[in-house]
Amino acid sequence: MRSMQKSIEYYTGHFGPYYHKQCRIIEFPRVASFAQAFPGTMPLSESIGFIENYQADKDDIDMVYYVVAHEMGHQYWAHQASGANMQGSEMTTETFAQYSAIMVMEHEYGRADT
Ligand SMILES: [Zn+2]
Repeated sequence: MRSMQKSIEYYTGHFGPYYHKQCRIIEFPRVASFAQAFPGTMPLSESIGFIENYQADKDDIDMVYYVVAHEMGHQYWAHQASGANMQGSEMTTETFAQYSAIMVMEHEYGRADT
């Protein structure tokens, strides 16, 4: 929930309004391990967002926070702005969703030490 809220704050401030009436995450069983974004709705496998213990390594990033921010990025990149219907189009939307999620992470946790 915190990642969704912070994503909406960052994305509306930098990319534009969030156009959907709802913003929801749907858990599905760990028969598969992925997340996906539909307009206003993001299914997440229980294995990557609900039962995984990401707090084992305190120096690692909060993957649940990151995955949600990435899928929230797709509310803009793919569901509001998308490339032409041609090979390579997904690279653009995935890259923008990754960038968006990293910006939300940076705002929440600060820039990574290198
Ligand atoms: Zn993606």
